[in-house]
Amino acid sequence: MDKKTCSKCGKEKALENYYSSKGKTRGQCKKCIIRQNVRHQQETRSWENRVIDKEARKAYMKIYCEKNKAKISENNRLFRLKNPDYFKEYARNQKLKPV
Ligand SMILES: [Zn+2]
Repeated sequence: MDKKTCSKCGKEKALENYYSSKGKTRGQCKKCIIRQNVRHQQETRSWENRVIDKEARKAYMKIYCEKNKAKISENNRLFRLKNPDYFKEYARNQKLKPV
């Protein structure tokens, strides 16, 4: 059976221990990828916990949006130009959602 060395933990493991996409296996083994995902989730969660107060977060987002209005709308415009199907798909999904 083919083996591959994980680029993260450096252990040699059978290919079944690696995720693959489009016929290519990832450089890191499943364990390392899972560990990374868990860490990422914890980090994201800790960010949420930092802004516990929902009102404070809302206020922050409002200020952020006000400050970056031009930038945000410009980004939205570019995104729409680049991804014309995204909003069509989004609208379709909204319609399909049970109320
Ligand atoms: Zn590994």
